[in-house]
Amino acid sequence: MKLFSSIRTRLTLWYAMFVAATLMAFGGSTYWFTRSTLEENLDISLRNEIEWVSAFIEPKARKVPLKRAALKELQQLQESTPQDDTEPQEGDAEIDEIWNEIYQHLLLSPRKQLIQILDRNNDVLYISHNLGTVRLQHEDIPYRSIKLVTTQTEDGRQIRLAVSQNDFVKIFLAYPLEDLNQVLGNLFFTFLVLAPLALVISMVGGWFLAHQSLKPVDALSRAAREISAQNLNQRLPANTVDDEIGRLTATFNEMIGRLQASFVQLKQFSADASHELRTPLTIIRGEIEVALRNKRLTMSVRELLQSVHDETIRLSSIVESLMSLVKSDDGRMVFEFDAIPISHVLADIVEDVRILGAEKNIRVEVNRLDPLVVEGDRNRLRQLFLTILDNAVKYTPDHGSINISLERRNGSAVVKIQDSGIGIPQRELPRIFQRFYRVPQTQNKMIRGSGLGLSIAKWIVEAHHGTIEVTSKTQKGSTFIVTLPLSETSLNP
Ligand code: ADP
Repeated sequence: MKLFSSIRTRLTLWYAMFVAATLMAFGGSTYWFTRSTLEENLDISLRNEIEWVSAFIEPKARKVPLKRAALKELQQLQESTPQDDTEPQEGDAEIDEIWNEIYQHLLLSPRKQLIQILDRNNDVLYISHNLGTVRLQHEDIPYRSIKLVTTQTEDGRQIRLAVSQNDFVKIFLAYPLEDLNQVLGNLFFTFLVLAPLALVISMVGGWFLAHQSLKPVDALSRAAREISAQNLNQRLPANTVDDEIGRLTATFNEMIGRLQASFVQLKQFSADASHELRTPLTIIRGEIEVALRNKRLTMSVRELLQSVHDETIRLSSIVESLMSLVKSDDGRMVFEFDAIPISHVLADIVEDVRILGAEKNIRVEVNRLDPLVVEGDRNRLRQLFLTILDNAVKYTPDHGSINISLERRNGSAVVKIQDSGIGIPQRELPRIFQRFYRVPQTQNKMIRGSGLGLSIAKWIVEAHHGTIEVTSKTQKGSTFIVTLPLSETSLNP
């Protein structure tokens, strides 16, 4: 199917179709033209020949004596046809000589005419050798004119027959059509062999041409694929020639330029907005904390202030996440890489997560914690595992469980975080790492979140040259697997 979706294949097939149609039209017309020319020439030869024979024998054939029946037939013919006033005369011994001359004429000519001449009494005057015992016959022989028909001899050979009669003789002149049919058959066979060959050659040529002309398009789509949000300052290789491809490249480059301008604007806006929001949020938070210290507050006001305080903390964390993402996009975020004993980092976090989980009676267990060291930024790695574990607690119902393991596999540290939570539908899995994406589930709506945690987690993993994967089953739980390359110290202890 993929083959047919390629322009190259479709162009080649169209091309082949046109070539095939042209070849068929050309072949058909050549065949038809050759056939009619051959037939026409044969007819002309037969006519000439019959005229020659007729003119040649007439003066001598006058001398053949006529039987009564023949005379009657001749009279009828003369009555029905306007004619000159020549009359039959008596024959003599000269006649033998006539047939010799005809014979010589035929012998000298390399053609294969069949000739049969009858006198008016229907007695054979001459019959060519190549006819053998076969006799040529025709019912309706025209008087003093020539008739041409395609017919068969008694022994089944196809012939073109010319017949004519005058006052003295009936002439039958025929040419076997085998030669003509053989020429036409050869022509047809040659076409049958050459046409597919020409078609294959033209298809190869068509494919090559299509390939050559679409090569720049391939190069263009490869270059365009390399351009992402991170390198919008790149441009497609400009084509100096002002052809279709050149104009397409220019249009693409203009479009990328417009995209880049919008992206820069958007980034600037996010950076400004999160920066501007940070200070007032910190002030609000501080002021609420001061207000909460007041012992004279009524219960309801205290609850209200506490709730506003929680929301402010949430808002601050969203703003912080946004700031991190904006910085990561700009490449402004600096990582402080060091040899980090990842097992220690995880052991620390597990304690915090146990406290978090205790509220929902969630069991947090560590199955295995190999003492491994990775090259990384301690704070960022903490943020990464805290995000995944915080999600595990958030999306696991009461009395559930979370299992953590760290082990070495193929020169990497593999951290597995498995929960028995609500799970993620299969089709949503590729999207959960996108910014602001939250799985649209009713249960999910009750759980607070911004949809930024996993996109930051992915960015941290990639900055450490690692990978993050997830497998999940709805209502059964999810497993996040983070793979990070081990540091030199771990590899050579
Ligand atoms: P949020 O702040 O919404 O948790 P994240 O980026 O951390 O944002 O996660 C994106 C989405 O992925 C979540 O909204 C949730 O639907 C889904 N998700 C993440 N972790 C889990 C998990 N352990 N179990 C079920 N769903 C999860």
